[in-house]
Amino acid sequence: MFQKILIANRGEIALRVLRACKELGIQTVVVHSTADADAMHVRLADESVCIGPPPSRDSYLNIHQIVAACEITGADAVHPGYGFLSENAKFADILAAHNITFIGPSGDHIRIMGDKIEAKRTAKRLGIPVVPGSDGAVTEEKEARRIAAEIGYPVIIKASAGGGGRGMKVAHTEADLEVALQTARTEAGAAFGDDAVYIEKYLEKPRHIEVQVFGDGFGQGVHFGERDCSLQRRHQKVWEEAPSPALNAEERARIGGICAKAIADLGYSGAGTIEFLYENGEFYFIEMNTRLQVEHPVTEAITGIDLVHEQIRVASGGGLSVRQEDIKFNGHAIECRINAEDPRTFTPSPGTITHFHTPGGLGIRVDSGVYSGYKIPPYYDSLIGKLIVHGRNRVECMMRLRRALDEFVVDGIKTTLPLFRDLVGNADIANGDYDIHWLEKYLAKGE
Ligand code: ADP
Repeated sequence: MFQKILIANRGEIALRVLRACKELGIQTVVVHSTADADAMHVRLADESVCIGPPPSRDSYLNIHQIVAACEITGADAVHPGYGFLSENAKFADILAAHNITFIGPSGDHIRIMGDKIEAKRTAKRLGIPVVPGSDGAVTEEKEARRIAAEIGYPVIIKASAGGGGRGMKVAHTEADLEVALQTARTEAGAAFGDDAVYIEKYLEKPRHIEVQVFGDGFGQGVHFGERDCSLQRRHQKVWEEAPSPALNAEERARIGGICAKAIADLGYSGAGTIEFLYENGEFYFIEMNTRLQVEHPVTEAITGIDLVHEQIRVASGGGLSVRQEDIKFNGHAIECRINAEDPRTFTPSPGTITHFHTPGGLGIRVDSGVYSGYKIPPYYDSLIGKLIVHGRNRVECMMRLRRALDEFVVDGIKTTLPLFRDLVGNADIANGDYDIHWLEKYLAKGE
């Protein structure tokens, strides 16, 4: 097992990883920017190293400084959290070259899944169902027309290097295709320095359903069930739940089995998430994330298994603590992402939190790095905490969520808590009856 883990992240996820390390008796080092000197994870860590000024590129993305911090403190492993360097293959390779363990998959697996065309090809080869579309990059309009006619309109043009929902264009008819292709290529080139794009069938009313997987490092793969993350705004997840209200046990076992086998065949090691769009009973692969996800606590709630413990175990060569047959699903969990944002306009609302009171009681978990008197710096994303609620079934979970939201107090800044208080009272949400467009439509109505 590792002696000392360096946590290369900030905010709630840095604290989340720190807690897991403490439980496992592993020493912790955190790195932080000058803007985060007062952060909770810095206060609670065994050691901290300031690695630079506030902008991420000079601190949390500065590979050289992070490797230097490992060498100074003698850390033997790095947990990257999510975002920042968590899906940076070069970072994984550089750490390996310094004999420091990257708590995540190999650089090669990160690279494959980071290129969406390559990822889709790999998924297909591994027997994962994919969205019908081009078999690789498309450059010629003629070719685009042929493929679109074959799969049928509407189609979506997506950037191979894409991320965060950027570089995507929908063409509803052949007349839209030329402009969509050109715009997507130009946008992809400007945003990612790579103008490769591909075409796939545009699904009109899908749900976003993702499967949590793990490779144990010895060639075995397991799945921890699915999460439904269909409630999104601008492709950003807002509310996540497990299990999905749309799946039955047979569908869950089928897609889970396909994913676990794919992970084993790939020789993948560590945590991963295979994301699908789901429509009319069919799953369509869209991408794989080779890291821990923001929404991992809903899976932890229904399985009772600490996924960060498992990541650390696997990275240290100790394998998983569970086999597939040990993973049982119990009840229902919902996560609300609480952002420091105006709940109507979603503009960021940094500043000082004058009062922070979290709900408690059975089935309630709050993952947050903030506290009363904490000043939210304006440099990073606006997630200030996650409320995760568990109940024996979805009805009990929703009742408990409503109560927990009533107890939650964040004064001094604007947050998205009022949005969740609205959602929890909505009939469609109560029925689990929503697709990936539901939230945007709801917000547009201004209810
Ligand atoms: P990114 O990596 O940029 O987030 P994804 O491939 O994960 O890109 O897609 C992001 C979102 O775009 C999906 O959650 C979905 O809302 C939408 N999307 C992507 N592909 C399709 C498709 N074929 N049909 C309909 N919507 C899609």
